[in-house]
Amino acid sequence: MIIGAGVSGIGSAIKLREAGFNDLHIVEKSDSFGGTWHDNSYPGASCDVPAHLYSLSFAPNPNWSVHYAGQPEILAHFQKVAEDHHLPDITSFGTEIASAVWDHDNAEWTLRTTTGDTIVADVVISGLGQLNRPNIPDIEGLGSFRGTTFHSARWNHEHDLTGKHVAVIGTGASAIQFVPEVAKQVDHLDLYQRSPNWVLPRVNPPYGQARKWAFRHVPGVRWLHRAAIWAKFEWLVGPVFNSGGVSNKKATEAATKFLTESVPDEKLRARLLPDYPIGCTRILGSSSWYPALQQPNVEVITSGISRIVADGIIDSDGRHRRVDTIIFGTGFRTTEFLSPIDFRGRDGQSIHDSWGDGAEAHMGTTASGFPNLFMLYGPNTNLGHNSIIFMIEQQLRYIVGLLEKMRKLGLVALEPRPEAQASYNEWVQEQMKKRVWVADCSSWYKNDSGKVVNNWPTSTVKYWRRCRKPDFDSYIGYRPPS
Ligand code: NAP
Repeated sequence: MIIGAGVSGIGSAIKLREAGFNDLHIVEKSDSFGGTWHDNSYPGASCDVPAHLYSLSFAPNPNWSVHYAGQPEILAHFQKVAEDHHLPDITSFGTEIASAVWDHDNAEWTLRTTTGDTIVADVVISGLGQLNRPNIPDIEGLGSFRGTTFHSARWNHEHDLTGKHVAVIGTGASAIQFVPEVAKQVDHLDLYQRSPNWVLPRVNPPYGQARKWAFRHVPGVRWLHRAAIWAKFEWLVGPVFNSGGVSNKKATEAATKFLTESVPDEKLRARLLPDYPIGCTRILGSSSWYPALQQPNVEVITSGISRIVADGIIDSDGRHRRVDTIIFGTGFRTTEFLSPIDFRGRDGQSIHDSWGDGAEAHMGTTASGFPNLFMLYGPNTNLGHNSIIFMIEQQLRYIVGLLEKMRKLGLVALEPRPEAQASYNEWVQEQMKKRVWVADCSSWYKNDSGKVVNNWPTSTVKYWRRCRKPDFDSYIGYRPPS
């Protein structure tokens, strides 16, 4: 059973089938393939990782129109991949899982949907990822607001913003993409910024016909292009995230120069300059962000929100601004992995309770006490410098390797040894100390106690090497009862 029909779910089904695991089913709560690219349809949505790398290596697309593809093109691509592999035949849309309980005697998971239906599965693969639950902050008075509100990942396309007075809360990776588009449409935009971000320019040249032809017809050209992008991100961008390193210093200089050249107004510039090391939050790429913030109809508000009232927002200085619409660009509940599904493991324990000190998994994929559960884009697998799809593919290789071994040995279940999981996570957190994510900044990579639970702490090469051959010794295998 695969939960989620995003990139992880699509990739899982293709790779499992390839390995001869044909009794597969995908459940998806929405009505379409695409996951995050289905959810995030806000104006200006695009991927800040080049499309030739942000795609499954075994389901490539030689026809990307530009380097950084927009959401409609990415969504159409993944929907086509799903269709080409006949995944609609094994997918139930509009089906949301509420709970999953492991029955150790029968070595199976019983999943219950939100409508009360029951599904039994030998193996559960979660393709829920880290960015699927919108975060709407609990701001005083929100319930009393009489206008329209929505989150960037649930964009209200029926709501016409033309001529409206709009407030946007949040200035992260999503807001930086939709604010320049929204600013063109609205009468006035109040942008509530809690922390500024480090921003670098982004150019997005189209691929010409000749290059696309070469990608389609000349063997190796597309692959080389993909490999070159991956290598550039790995070896040029990766070192930026080393605390106090030369690359971090150079990136800070480049981003500061970009801000200085883009924003002549000293007062505004001071408010847009972060006071934490670059990379601590996601480094954003946009050449339209700073120009948008300087439009006459845009106001950047940094005094904080005191409360929301029926017709607007009152800031911490007590100033009331009337608004028709509030758009939350406030990110996702990223540290609550697998939520809201109530997973119960071998001894009936809840996975969320077992993660009291912060989610952790063995290889970011399996969890002790929860046999036959595999998490794609699980704890400590997110990247700041490369394509998450590269990581998902390594996880798929790892999972398929484990399942093949189980099949060969006639095992019905397996789970990581607690000591293996513990020592793996000690290593992860030890490596993390060298990275800039542990610095003092507000980021979705950390849980409430400040532990970085989302990011992989080192190079993708290291993850690739660890996943190539599953560490079967780290696992307890269960045989069928005799
Ligand atoms: P985000 O980066 O977590 O940004 C959330 C924003 O909301 C931050 O500015 C945050 O301020 C603010 N915020 C949160 N709670 C608030 C509150 N109570 N009051 C005021 N402000 C509040 O979320 P996101 O922009 O949706 O992006 C999340 C992730 O999605 C990205 O990092 C990226 O991995 C992914 N994404 C990727 C792309 C892409 O191109 N590949 C595009 C969009 C998103 P603070 O900074 O002070 O916490």
